[in-house]
Amino acid sequence: EDGSGKGAALITAVAKRLHNIDKYLYAMRLSDETLLDVMARFRREMKNGLSRDFNPTAAVKMLPTFVRSIPDGSEKGDFIALDLGGSYFRILRVKVSHEKKQTVQMESEIYNTPEDIMHGSGTRLFDHVAECLGDFMEKQQIKDKKLPVGFTFSFPCRQTKLDEGILITWTKRFKASGVEGADVVKLLNKAIKKRGDYDADIMAVVNDTVGTMMTCGFDDQRCEVGLIIGTGTNACYMEEMRHIDLVEGDEGRMCINTEWGAFGDDGSLEDIRTEFDREIDRGSLNPGKQLFEKMVSGLYMGELVRLILVKMAKEGLLFEGRITPELLTKGKFETKHVSAIENDSESKEILTRLGVEPSHEDCIAVQHVCTIVSFRSANLVASTLGAILNQLRDNKGVGRLRTTVGVDGSLYKMHPQYARRLHKTTRRLVPDSEVRFLLSESGSGKGAAMVTAVAYRLAEQHRL
Ligand code: BGC
Ligand code: MG
Repeated sequence: EDGSGKGAALITAVAKRLHNIDKYLYAMRLSDETLLDVMARFRREMKNGLSRDFNPTAAVKMLPTFVRSIPDGSEKGDFIALDLGGSYFRILRVKVSHEKKQTVQMESEIYNTPEDIMHGSGTRLFDHVAECLGDFMEKQQIKDKKLPVGFTFSFPCRQTKLDEGILITWTKRFKASGVEGADVVKLLNKAIKKRGDYDADIMAVVNDTVGTMMTCGFDDQRCEVGLIIGTGTNACYMEEMRHIDLVEGDEGRMCINTEWGAFGDDGSLEDIRTEFDREIDRGSLNPGKQLFEKMVSGLYMGELVRLILVKMAKEGLLFEGRITPELLTKGKFETKHVSAIENDSESKEILTRLGVEPSHEDCIAVQHVCTIVSFRSANLVASTLGAILNQLRDNKGVGRLRTTVGVDGSLYKMHPQYARRLHKTTRRLVPDSEVRFLLSESGSGKGAAMVTAVAYRLAEQHRL
């Protein structure tokens, strides 16, 4: 009798605590009404970014990529793909062949990019990239060949053709000097020339969203959106040429890299940003920029949770008010910890490592905080993705859109509930769409090789 009475009291106490956290973080729990409003706002941002008059001042840049079609299955050849700007710096060799059907064979290496290189001079950064590429070619024994290279460069770039990428601004962890405003293809070519021990033909610069869309397009012809939820966040989609003011011509479609991470940089999300979002921004490498990304992506999520825990502990709402040097250390709580805690594993260990001696109730409370923060992220992405889906639907003039979204990114892949929540909210916000989410199993490298293959084929035709 006594035992069950105690149990009931405990359940009531926990329920009360969770309810208090809900109240405490009410500004992070976005209603469907708010999400639909964010969706409408982002749709307007897309329109501004595409228009000649508003593009120069638009926060969301809607960058033309000069990728005009998804793979058609006829691509073939031997390619190298560089992938810089995500969680890893990866170099791949992609062999696409045609027997009865198109097959792809890939080999890859991961290289380190130390922080002092990411934050040093641009020259050093590209020397490093060229050195890793040399090492890779050595290992593959292809130093004497001049293979076509596709460069997945996961940052906002202006392009006037496929093999040019003028970096607009660094994001995420990168801040190398002298690169913003320069063409990254030229910088890489220069670094390769300077070495003189191998040759490379850089055919295409591809954003990781575009690489992901192309990778998934290989398996599903309907794929016309690429989505990344990892260290950073962004999406691309196939837009009608007649809507793209910045590129000549009205026929057909071109892939647009939205650069939605910058949504809100003009103040349009101030009503939903919280004190924690502002603190994250102030402590970042790029204050005032990528404000949507900072509410959503993996580079910031762990830190967001940490800031909330610190404030709650200070107010005596957690850990009986205990605050430790570890808890106060920036970066001590990572996004992978959010995933682990929501997976119901290791909560106690993770919090114990922060020195806060958590009670069982503390663990449940922290899990609830993690859920609110990661759920907000999935909800926000559902809103912006919903705007893209509605644009595609209206472009096609159909009542019901059937489409596939290619997805990649560490947060989407590693978090136990993220994908399911994103799918569910998207379907609720855009009920008249039939959306398939397709995980890019092999990252964006295969897609970059596909883009390169198409570029190579076109260049060959030109030479003939
Ligand atoms: C970059 C995008 C990129 C995204 C995901 C953002 O910070 O601006 O170009 O696609 O991260 O990697
Ligand atoms: Mg990546």
